[in-house]
Amino acid sequence: MSRITIVGGGLVGGLLAIFLAKRGHTVHVYERRPDPRKTDVYAGRSINLVVSHRGWTALRAAGVEAAVKEITVPVYARMMHDREGKLNRVPYSIDNKAIHSVSRGELNRRLLSEAEKLANVKLFFDHRCLDVDLEHATCRFELDGKEAVEVKADVVFGADGAFSAVRSKMAWGRFTYSQEYIEHDYKEVAFPAHPDGTPKMDPQCLHIWPRRWFMMMGLANQDGGFTGTLFMPHNATAQSPGFDSVRTPEQVQAFCREHFHDALPIVPDIVEQYLRNPQSSLVIIRCSPWQVNGRVALIGDAAHAIVPFYGEGMNAGYEDCKVLNDLLNTFGDDNWAEVLHRYAAARKPNGDAIADLSLRNFVEMRDLVADPRFLLRKKIEGHIQARHPDKWLPLYSQVKFSDIAYKDAWNEGLRHDRIMEEVLSMPDIGEMWESEEVERKALALLESMSG
Ligand SMILES: Cc1cc2nc3c(=O)[nH]c(=O)nc-3n(C[C@H](O)[C@H](O)[C@H](O)COP(=O)(O)OP(=O)(O)OC[C@H]3O[C@@H](n4cnc5c(N)ncnc54)[C@H](O)[C@@H]3O)c2cc1C
Repeated sequence: MSRITIVGGGLVGGLLAIFLAKRGHTVHVYERRPDPRKTDVYAGRSINLVVSHRGWTALRAAGVEAAVKEITVPVYARMMHDREGKLNRVPYSIDNKAIHSVSRGELNRRLLSEAEKLANVKLFFDHRCLDVDLEHATCRFELDGKEAVEVKADVVFGADGAFSAVRSKMAWGRFTYSQEYIEHDYKEVAFPAHPDGTPKMDPQCLHIWPRRWFMMMGLANQDGGFTGTLFMPHNATAQSPGFDSVRTPEQVQAFCREHFHDALPIVPDIVEQYLRNPQSSLVIIRCSPWQVNGRVALIGDAAHAIVPFYGEGMNAGYEDCKVLNDLLNTFGDDNWAEVLHRYAAARKPNGDAIADLSLRNFVEMRDLVADPRFLLRKKIEGHIQARHPDKWLPLYSQVKFSDIAYKDAWNEGLRHDRIMEEVLSMPDIGEMWESEEVERKALALLESMSG
């Protein structure tokens, strides 16, 4: 059995530790920050995210599905809020499937506690990785900002997030790398529950205020409140306000009143929160190779940081862990060179595909969900799927409710776009979308565009 160092005890590092320890390896996790179970490293911010099918598949395989399910809230639909406050509920699937909202801090704490139950896992907090010797799988950590500790292992995993120290070291060699900041930043706003703890909006929906160039969304927390996230350009443009143009209390007040009118009674202190809460950027990282020397590998955001608009960053990281575990089942636990080579080859194209899919979903969320033509397309796709579930699975379901490789989902999504473009151009499509003629046309196009 091997000695494994995991750099980073975040969402992916915690799950990876569980997988590897359950196989019998000795796993040491080194986390830069203090123990989140003792210190509020999330600084009282109620950031949340969604766990979906791939995440659950991995959590189940690691034996921690039930422990995580307890802390989640199911979400079945998008609820669109238009400028007048009119609501439109659009289910995520035709068969009532849910994604699950969870607090980032709760999930992190839960997985670390599950990992710590295993005798062969040790967690080290306040240890910042400074350097990695890629040949000898040896890491150097700074302890409490002072002393340097050297740790030798058989294998090192860099699960240290988008700004990975392990990746930086790999970049000294033959390494391809890109880092792209998108124009949008984000800011979080807490939506409180009623004083008796009941939610002020439907908790089983992801609430979206799509405003074409920017948007706000709200995801339920277990305490009846919601976490709202405003995504808006860093700099204002001719079409859109930006964080740089909405700065003073008066500007924020006017902005919220104009664009998020119906949210004001729900979040009475929205202006104060906007002015107080930090503004964060969003980055996409692509890199290659994901492993060197069969001894050091990247996993999670360290390998593939993506924008959050499909809610798949963590889920993709959990799928990385599951794929790695499956490869260890196939090739054995003492064959790291083969396993890491295959892991990187299998996951890299999928990391790239989910990065592209996530950017595409941003356009869908902020803009298209308010577009009647897009909503009509959703209805047609749902209709065809209901009648021919073996032939048509909408892209969203492929990404969120299936194990279909992200890269295959991306290609299938492009094919669906071409088909739907032709279907939507049929005369009187708004009236006849449920007709057999439309169905026949879609299936014929599917057939002719296959392969
Ligand atoms: C606004 C927003 C919403 C999101 N929503 C979703 C969602 O709904 N669903 C979803 O699946 N994903 C979502 N994501 C993405 C998700 O947060 C990430 O994909 C996920 O956190 C990646 O986990 P990770 O463990 O790889 O990295 P991280 O969670 O970033 O963890 C990395 C850990 O490494 C530690 N670390 C960093 N450097 C060092 C070092 N030098 N030494 C030691 N430790 C170090 C860090 O302190 C951290 O604890 C969202 C992201 C954002 C920004």
